[in-house]
Amino acid sequence: FFQPIQKIGAIIELYPKGIAGFQRYMDIMRLDPDIKDAPNAKHVEALSGNIRYDNVSFGYKEGSSILKDISFSINAGQTVAFVGPSGAGKSTISSLLPRFYERNAGEITIDGIPNNEMTLASLRSQIGIVQQDVYLFGGTIRENIAYGKLGATDDEIEEAARRAQLTDFLAELPDGLDTVIGERGVMISGGQKQRISIARVFLKNPPILILDEATSALDTETEVKIQEALDELSAGRTTLVIAHRLATIKHADKIIMVTKQGITEEGKHSELLEKEGAYRRLYDAQFTH
Ligand code: ATP
Repeated sequence: FFQPIQKIGAIIELYPKGIAGFQRYMDIMRLDPDIKDAPNAKHVEALSGNIRYDNVSFGYKEGSSILKDISFSINAGQTVAFVGPSGAGKSTISSLLPRFYERNAGEITIDGIPNNEMTLASLRSQIGIVQQDVYLFGGTIRENIAYGKLGATDDEIEEAARRAQLTDFLAELPDGLDTVIGERGVMISGGQKQRISIARVFLKNPPILILDEATSALDTETEVKIQEALDELSAGRTTLVIAHRLATIKHADKIIMVTKQGITEEGKHSELLEKEGAYRRLYDAQFTH
Protein backbone atom coordinates (compact mmCIF):
# COMPACT_ATOMS: atom_id res chain seq x y z
CA PHE A 1 0.00 0.00 0.00
CA PHE A 2 2.71 2.49 0.89
CA GLN A 3 4.97 1.67 -2.00
CA PRO A 4 3.40 4.00 -4.60
CA ILE A 5 3.67 6.90 -2.20
CA GLN A 6 7.32 6.20 -1.61
CA LYS A 7 7.86 6.09 -5.34
CA ILE A 8 6.24 9.48 -5.86
CA GLY A 9 8.60 10.87 -3.24
CA ALA A 10 11.51 9.53 -5.23
CA ILE A 11 10.15 11.04 -8.43
CA ILE A 12 9.95 14.51 -6.92
CA GLU A 13 13.41 14.19 -5.49
CA LEU A 14 15.02 12.96 -8.67
CA TYR A 15 13.18 14.95 -11.27
CA PRO A 16 12.03 18.37 -10.23
CA LYS A 17 12.13 19.43 -13.88
CA GLY A 18 8.56 18.74 -14.88
CA ILE A 19 6.74 16.47 -17.24
CA ALA A 20 9.62 15.25 -19.41
CA GLY A 21 11.60 14.09 -16.41
CA PHE A 22 8.54 12.59 -14.83
CA GLN A 23 7.72 10.62 -17.96
CA ARG A 24 11.27 9.46 -18.25
CA TYR A 25 11.19 8.30 -14.67
CA MET A 26 7.99 6.38 -15.33
CA ASP A 27 9.68 4.85 -18.34
CA ILE A 28 12.55 3.67 -16.21
CA MET A 29 10.12 2.35 -13.60
CA ARG A 30 7.88 0.86 -16.28
CA LEU A 31 8.43 -2.79 -15.66
CA ASP A 32 9.50 -5.09 -12.89
CA PRO A 33 9.95 -3.12 -9.66
CA ASP A 34 12.14 -5.97 -8.35
CA ILE A 35 14.83 -4.96 -10.82
CA LYS A 36 16.99 -2.54 -8.89
CA ASP A 37 20.49 -1.16 -8.78
CA ALA A 38 23.00 -3.59 -7.25
CA PRO A 39 24.88 -2.29 -4.23
CA ASN A 40 27.88 -0.33 -5.60
CA ALA A 41 26.36 -0.25 -9.09
CA LYS A 42 28.50 1.74 -11.52
CA HIS A 43 27.37 4.85 -13.30
CA VAL A 44 28.29 4.36 -16.95
CA GLU A 45 28.39 6.86 -19.79
CA ALA A 46 29.75 7.12 -23.28
CA LEU A 47 29.95 3.34 -23.71
CA SER A 48 31.35 2.09 -27.05
CA GLY A 49 28.68 -0.59 -27.34
CA ASN A 50 30.54 -3.91 -27.53
CA ILE A 51 27.84 -6.35 -26.48
CA ARG A 52 28.21 -9.97 -25.35
CA TYR A 53 25.60 -12.47 -24.22
CA ASP A 54 27.19 -15.52 -22.57
CA ASN A 55 25.00 -18.57 -21.91
CA VAL A 56 21.98 -16.44 -21.11
CA SER A 57 18.80 -18.21 -20.01
CA PHE A 58 15.48 -16.65 -19.21
CA GLY A 59 11.79 -17.46 -18.62
CA TYR A 60 8.95 -15.09 -17.83
CA LYS A 61 7.59 -17.46 -15.22
CA GLU A 62 9.40 -19.72 -12.84
CA GLY A 63 9.88 -23.11 -14.40
CA SER A 64 9.19 -21.90 -17.93
CA SER A 65 12.09 -21.23 -20.19
CA ILE A 66 12.03 -19.01 -23.28
CA LEU A 67 15.78 -18.57 -23.79
CA LYS A 68 18.27 -21.35 -23.10
CA ASP A 69 22.03 -20.80 -23.17
CA ILE A 70 22.00 -17.95 -25.66
CA SER A 71 25.46 -16.66 -26.61
CA PHE A 72 26.45 -14.08 -29.21
CA SER A 73 28.48 -10.93 -29.53
CA ILE A 74 28.09 -7.66 -31.40
CA ASN A 75 30.99 -5.33 -32.09
CA ALA A 76 30.58 -1.64 -31.38
CA GLY A 77 28.82 0.14 -34.21
CA GLN A 78 27.56 -3.02 -35.90
CA THR A 79 24.01 -3.91 -36.84
CA VAL A 80 22.72 -7.33 -35.93
CA ALA A 81 19.37 -8.54 -37.25
CA PHE A 82 17.43 -11.13 -35.24
CA VAL A 83 15.16 -13.21 -37.42
CA GLY A 84 13.08 -16.31 -36.85
CA PRO A 85 9.57 -17.56 -36.26
CA SER A 86 7.08 -15.58 -34.21
CA GLY A 87 7.36 -16.30 -30.50
CA ALA A 88 10.91 -17.66 -30.67
CA GLY A 89 12.18 -14.98 -28.29
CA LYS A 90 13.72 -12.23 -30.46
CA SER A 91 12.13 -9.35 -28.54
CA THR A 92 12.84 -11.12 -25.28
CA ILE A 93 16.56 -11.25 -26.08
CA SER A 94 16.65 -7.50 -26.68
CA SER A 95 14.59 -6.67 -23.58
CA LEU A 96 17.22 -8.25 -21.31
CA LEU A 97 19.83 -5.70 -22.43
CA PRO A 98 18.24 -2.65 -20.71
CA ARG A 99 17.14 -5.04 -17.94
CA PHE A 100 13.42 -4.70 -18.52
CA TYR A 101 13.60 -8.31 -17.39
CA GLU A 102 16.36 -10.03 -15.45
CA ARG A 103 18.04 -13.06 -16.93
CA ASN A 104 18.00 -16.24 -14.82
CA ALA A 105 21.50 -17.37 -15.76
CA GLY A 106 24.50 -16.31 -17.79
CA GLU A 107 25.97 -12.89 -18.32
CA ILE A 108 25.29 -9.87 -20.49
CA THR A 109 28.11 -7.37 -20.77
CA ILE A 110 28.55 -4.05 -22.53
CA ASP A 111 32.19 -3.03 -23.02
CA GLY A 112 33.06 -5.89 -20.65
CA ILE A 113 30.89 -4.59 -17.79
CA PRO A 114 27.94 -6.78 -16.74
CA ASN A 115 24.74 -4.80 -17.29
CA ASN A 116 23.52 -5.74 -13.82
CA GLU A 117 26.53 -4.00 -12.30
CA MET A 118 25.53 -0.68 -13.89
CA THR A 119 22.97 1.68 -12.42
CA LEU A 120 19.67 1.16 -14.23
CA ALA A 121 19.35 4.83 -15.11
CA SER A 122 22.84 5.06 -16.62
CA LEU A 123 22.48 1.71 -18.44
CA ARG A 124 19.18 2.83 -19.97
CA SER A 125 20.61 6.23 -20.87
CA GLN A 126 22.97 4.34 -23.22
CA ILE A 127 20.18 2.51 -25.08
CA GLY A 128 17.63 4.00 -27.46
CA ILE A 129 14.52 2.05 -28.35
CA VAL A 130 12.34 2.40 -31.42
CA GLN A 131 9.36 0.07 -31.47
CA GLN A 132 5.95 -0.39 -32.99
CA ASP A 133 3.88 0.74 -30.05
CA VAL A 134 5.07 4.27 -29.59
CA TYR A 135 4.12 6.00 -26.40
CA LEU A 136 3.28 9.65 -27.02
CA PHE A 137 1.63 11.83 -24.40
CA GLY A 138 -0.93 14.60 -24.90
CA GLY A 139 1.12 17.72 -25.49
CA THR A 140 3.06 19.38 -28.28
CA ILE A 141 5.28 17.56 -30.74
CA ARG A 142 8.17 19.58 -29.32
CA GLU A 143 7.49 18.25 -25.80
CA ASN A 144 7.18 14.73 -27.11
CA ILE A 145 10.55 14.93 -28.85
CA ALA A 146 12.21 16.75 -25.93
CA TYR A 147 11.36 13.75 -23.78
CA GLY A 148 14.48 12.16 -25.33
CA LYS A 149 16.79 14.51 -23.45
CA LEU A 150 16.29 16.67 -20.39
CA GLY A 151 17.10 20.30 -21.08
CA ALA A 152 17.34 19.97 -24.88
CA THR A 153 17.67 23.27 -26.72
CA ASP A 154 15.28 24.37 -29.50
CA ASP A 155 18.07 23.91 -32.03
CA GLU A 156 18.69 20.36 -30.89
CA ILE A 157 14.98 19.53 -31.09
CA GLU A 158 14.68 20.99 -34.60
CA GLU A 159 17.75 19.08 -35.74
CA ALA A 160 16.35 15.82 -34.33
CA ALA A 161 13.01 16.44 -36.10
CA ARG A 162 14.81 17.09 -39.37
CA ARG A 163 16.93 13.96 -39.10
CA ALA A 164 13.81 11.93 -38.32
CA GLN A 165 12.29 13.10 -41.63
CA LEU A 166 9.58 15.16 -39.95
CA THR A 167 10.24 18.44 -41.80
CA ASP A 168 7.53 18.09 -44.48
CA PHE A 169 4.95 16.89 -41.99
CA LEU A 170 5.68 19.78 -39.60
CA ALA A 171 5.44 22.29 -42.46
CA GLU A 172 1.84 21.19 -43.07
CA LEU A 173 0.83 21.90 -39.49
CA PRO A 174 -0.26 25.41 -38.48
CA ASP A 175 1.91 25.44 -35.37
CA GLY A 176 4.73 23.18 -36.55
CA LEU A 177 6.59 21.71 -33.59
CA ASP A 178 4.21 23.47 -31.21
CA THR A 179 1.18 21.61 -32.55
CA VAL A 180 -0.66 19.76 -29.80
CA ILE A 181 -1.19 16.08 -30.53
CA GLY A 182 -3.37 13.49 -28.86
CA GLU A 183 -6.98 13.53 -27.76
CA ARG A 184 -7.15 17.29 -27.38
CA GLY A 185 -5.17 18.06 -30.49
CA VAL A 186 -4.28 16.75 -33.90
CA MET A 187 -4.53 12.99 -34.42
CA ILE A 188 -1.46 11.62 -36.13
CA SER A 189 -0.75 8.46 -38.08
CA GLY A 190 1.32 5.48 -37.01
CA GLY A 191 4.14 6.48 -39.37
CA GLN A 192 4.24 10.02 -37.96
CA LYS A 193 4.25 8.69 -34.43
CA GLN A 194 7.14 6.46 -35.25
CA ARG A 195 9.12 9.35 -36.69
CA ILE A 196 8.51 11.38 -33.53
CA SER A 197 9.89 8.47 -31.53
CA ILE A 198 12.90 8.33 -33.87
CA ALA A 199 13.47 12.07 -33.29
CA ARG A 200 13.52 11.36 -29.55
CA VAL A 201 16.28 8.83 -29.99
CA PHE A 202 18.32 11.20 -32.21
CA LEU A 203 18.11 13.70 -29.37
CA LYS A 204 19.06 11.14 -26.75
CA ASN A 205 22.01 10.09 -28.96
CA PRO A 206 22.76 6.73 -27.30
CA PRO A 207 25.57 4.42 -28.50
CA ILE A 208 23.19 1.43 -28.55
CA LEU A 209 19.92 1.09 -30.39
CA ILE A 210 17.16 -1.52 -30.17
CA LEU A 211 14.90 -1.43 -33.15
CA ASP A 212 11.74 -3.50 -33.17
CA GLU A 213 10.65 -3.14 -36.76
CA ALA A 214 7.03 -2.68 -37.75
CA THR A 215 5.35 -5.78 -39.09
CA SER A 216 2.29 -3.92 -40.36
CA ALA A 217 2.56 -2.40 -43.80
CA LEU A 218 3.01 1.35 -44.09
CA ASP A 219 2.43 3.22 -47.34
CA THR A 220 5.50 3.27 -49.57
CA GLU A 221 6.40 6.91 -49.06
CA THR A 222 6.22 6.59 -45.27
CA GLU A 223 8.17 3.37 -45.40
CA VAL A 224 10.95 5.00 -47.41
CA LYS A 225 11.13 7.98 -45.05
CA ILE A 226 11.21 5.79 -41.97
CA GLN A 227 13.87 3.55 -43.49
CA GLU A 228 16.02 6.60 -44.31
CA ALA A 229 15.63 7.96 -40.80
CA LEU A 230 16.47 4.58 -39.27
CA ASP A 231 19.51 4.08 -41.49
CA GLU A 232 20.86 7.43 -40.34
CA LEU A 233 19.96 6.68 -36.73
CA SER A 234 21.70 3.32 -36.65
CA ALA A 235 24.87 4.53 -38.42
CA GLY A 236 27.73 4.34 -35.94
CA ARG A 237 25.58 2.84 -33.18
CA THR A 238 25.48 -0.78 -32.08
CA THR A 239 22.05 -1.80 -33.33
CA LEU A 240 19.94 -4.82 -32.42
CA VAL A 241 17.11 -5.15 -34.91
CA ILE A 242 14.12 -7.43 -34.54
CA ALA A 243 14.03 -7.61 -38.28
CA HIS A 244 11.09 -7.86 -40.59
CA ARG A 245 12.29 -5.70 -43.45
CA LEU A 246 14.34 -7.22 -46.21
CA ALA A 247 16.53 -4.10 -46.47
CA THR A 248 17.64 -4.41 -42.85
CA ILE A 249 18.29 -8.12 -43.06
CA LYS A 250 20.33 -7.90 -46.25
CA HIS A 251 22.57 -5.12 -45.00
CA ALA A 252 23.07 -6.29 -41.42
CA ASP A 253 26.64 -7.04 -40.33
CA LYS A 254 25.33 -10.25 -38.82
CA ILE A 255 22.04 -12.13 -38.90
CA ILE A 256 21.10 -14.29 -35.94
CA MET A 257 18.44 -16.90 -36.50
CA VAL A 258 16.45 -17.51 -33.33
CA THR A 259 14.15 -20.51 -33.03
CA LYS A 260 12.62 -22.36 -30.08
CA GLN A 261 15.85 -24.39 -30.06
CA GLY A 262 17.92 -21.27 -29.50
CA ILE A 263 20.33 -19.65 -31.94
CA THR A 264 20.53 -22.05 -34.84
CA GLU A 265 22.38 -20.03 -37.48
CA GLU A 266 24.53 -16.94 -37.51
CA GLY A 267 26.28 -15.07 -40.30
CA LYS A 268 25.89 -12.64 -43.14
CA HIS A 269 22.92 -12.79 -45.48
CA SER A 270 24.86 -14.36 -48.36
CA GLU A 271 26.53 -16.92 -46.07
CA LEU A 272 23.23 -18.03 -44.58
CA LEU A 273 21.55 -18.28 -47.97
CA GLU A 274 24.33 -20.59 -49.12
CA LYS A 275 23.85 -22.84 -46.09
CA GLU A 276 20.39 -23.74 -47.37
CA GLY A 277 19.14 -24.15 -43.80
CA ALA A 278 16.38 -22.59 -41.75
CA TYR A 279 17.28 -19.03 -42.75
CA ARG A 280 17.13 -19.95 -46.41
CA ARG A 281 13.68 -21.51 -45.90
CA LEU A 282 12.39 -18.50 -43.94
CA TYR A 283 13.77 -16.14 -46.53
CA ASP A 284 12.26 -18.04 -49.44
CA ALA A 285 8.90 -18.27 -47.69
CA GLN A 286 8.79 -14.58 -46.85
CA PHE A 287 10.48 -12.82 -49.67
CA THR A 288 10.25 -14.72 -52.90
CA HIS A 289 7.02 -14.62 -54.78
P1 ATP B 1 7.52 -11.92 -32.71
O1 ATP B 1 8.31 -12.13 -33.99
O2 ATP B 1 6.11 -12.42 -32.84
O3 ATP B 1 7.63 -10.55 -32.16
P2 ATP B 1 9.53 -12.91 -30.85
O4 ATP B 1 10.45 -13.91 -31.46
O5 ATP B 1 10.02 -11.52 -30.68
O6 ATP B 1 8.14 -12.94 -31.62
P3 ATP B 1 8.97 -12.79 -28.02
O7 ATP B 1 8.07 -11.62 -28.16
O8 ATP B 1 10.31 -12.58 -27.45
O9 ATP B 1 9.13 -13.52 -29.44
O10 ATP B 1 8.20 -13.90 -27.20
C1 ATP B 1 8.77 -15.16 -26.86
C2 ATP B 1 7.79 -15.92 -26.01
O11 ATP B 1 7.64 -15.27 -24.75
C3 ATP B 1 6.41 -16.05 -26.59
O12 ATP B 1 5.92 -17.33 -26.27
C4 ATP B 1 5.62 -14.99 -25.86
O13 ATP B 1 4.27 -15.36 -25.75
C5 ATP B 1 6.29 -14.96 -24.49
N1 ATP B 1 6.23 -13.61 -23.88
C6 ATP B 1 6.62 -12.45 -24.45
N2 ATP B 1 6.48 -11.42 -23.60
C7 ATP B 1 5.97 -11.93 -22.45
C8 ATP B 1 5.60 -11.39 -21.18
N3 ATP B 1 5.73 -10.09 -20.93
N4 ATP B 1 5.11 -12.23 -20.25
C9 ATP B 1 5.00 -13.55 -20.48
N5 ATP B 1 5.33 -14.14 -21.66
C10 ATP B 1 5.81 -13.36 -22.63
